[in-house]
Amino acid sequence: MAPISTAPFIAVVGGGPAGLLSAQRLAEAGYSVTVFEAQPTVGRKFLVAGHGGFNLTNAEPLPTFTQRYGSRQTEFGRFLDHFTPTDLRQWLSSLGIETFVGTSGRIFPLEAHKPAQVLRAWLQHLQTLGVQLHVRHRWLGFTPERALRLRDESTGQEFRVQPAATVLALGGASWAKTGSDGQWPALLRPWGVETVPFAPSNCGAEVAWSEFFRAKVGRAPLKNIALECGGQTVRGELLLTEYGVEGTPVYALTPPLRAALQASAPANLFLNLKPDLTAEQLQQKMQAPRNGKSLAVYLEKTLRLGPPVPTLLRELAPAEAGTSPAALASLLQRLPIPVTGLRPWTKPFPPPAAWPGRK
Ligand SMILES: Cc1cc2nc3c(=O)[nH]c(=O)nc-3n(C[C@H](O)[C@H](O)[C@H](O)COP(=O)(O)OP(=O)(O)OC[C@H]3O[C@@H](n4cnc5c(N)ncnc54)[C@H](O)[C@@H]3O)c2cc1C
Repeated sequence: MAPISTAPFIAVVGGGPAGLLSAQRLAEAGYSVTVFEAQPTVGRKFLVAGHGGFNLTNAEPLPTFTQRYGSRQTEFGRFLDHFTPTDLRQWLSSLGIETFVGTSGRIFPLEAHKPAQVLRAWLQHLQTLGVQLHVRHRWLGFTPERALRLRDESTGQEFRVQPAATVLALGGASWAKTGSDGQWPALLRPWGVETVPFAPSNCGAEVAWSEFFRAKVGRAPLKNIALECGGQTVRGELLLTEYGVEGTPVYALTPPLRAALQASAPANLFLNLKPDLTAEQLQQKMQAPRNGKSLAVYLEKTLRLGPPVPTLLRELAPAEAGTSPAALASLLQRLPIPVTGLRPWTKPFPPPAAWPGRK
C-alpha cells in the first residue's frame, strides 16, 4: 500500500458508492484524493446489493421518481436534477458497463456485468485518476486541531493526518457486517453536529401470524397485487413469510408504514388482491352463484385466486365478513394486514432464490 501523502490532499472517509463517486469527481476536478475505508475491501454493501436484483436506478419520469422520497422529495428532486438517472447510465457506460431498463422501469447492468465487475471497472478508473485507497483504516474522529484520527486496523496503530478538506461518506446503519455500522454520528456530536436518528426506510414488516397460518402457508408469493398505506398505493408482488411480509411494495411503503406505527401499533397495510378490476367489475364477477362451492373453490374458479388467498382471508377477516358477495368483494380489494413492527435492520432479506420476479 502506498504511504499516506504528505502533500495537500482531500480525504474521503468511507469506501462505499458515495465515497468512491466523491473521490472520482474530486480527482477529475484535479484534486489529490485519498480514501480511508475501515473494512479490508471497499464497496462491500454494494456487492451485497448485487446478490438480489442489483437495480441501479429507475427510468420513470423524474417527477414520479422524486415522489418516492416522500417528505424529502423537494431536496431529492434537486439532487436528481443535478445527477439524473440518465447521467448515472452515462457514467456507467463511461466505465464500460452497459445497462438496460427492466419491465418494472428499474435499471440494471447487462447480465454479463456482475456487481464485482462493475466495482472492478470503477476501481481501475479511480486508479488511473491517481486516487489513493487505504483500506483497514478506521476514522476515529477529529483532533481539536481538526486533523483526522485514524487507526490502521491491521497493526492497531493510531495516527493523524491533516487533509485540506474531508468528505465523510460513512453509510447507514444496516448490514453492519459490510461496514456501515451507524457508529459515526457519535464522532460528530462533540462538534455540535446532530444527526437525524437512523430509521429503516426500505425493509420488510412483521405480522403476528397464527401458528396455523405459519405452518400452512410458510413462505408464499402473491403476484400482481397492490398495497396501500397512508394514502400511497404501490403495485407489485408480496412475499408472505413466517414472520410477516416482504417485497417491493412493502419496501416502498416503509416511510408511511413507519409513521403509522409511530402513531399506533399495529398499523395496517391494505392489500388489494384484484387491483386491475374496479369495485363494480369485481362485484359483477361475483354475482355468479356459489352453488354450494367452498370459499376456496369459488375464489379459484371465479376469480383465479388460488392458495394461499383463502387461508389469508381466514387469517385476517372474521368468518362472517365474506358471506355476502359485496362484503367479500370489498375485503378482496382492501384486506387489512396488521403490521406489528418493521424488520430489524440487522436481519438480512430472505435469500434471493426466494424472491418473486425481481425484475
Ligand atoms: C441486501 C441489500 C440490497 C440492496 N439492493 C440495492 C439495489 O438493488 N439498488 C440500490 O441502488 N441499492 C441497493 N442497496 C442499497 C445500497 O447498497 C446502499 O444504498 C449503498 O451501499 C449506500 O452507499 P454509501 O456509500 O452511502 O454507504 P455504504 O455502502 O454503506 O458505504 C459506507 C462505507 O463507510 C465505511 N465506514 C463506516 N464507518 C467508517 C469509519 N469510521 N472509518 C472508515 N470507514 C468507515 C464502511 O465500512 C462502508 O464501506 C441494497 C442494500 C442491501 C443491504
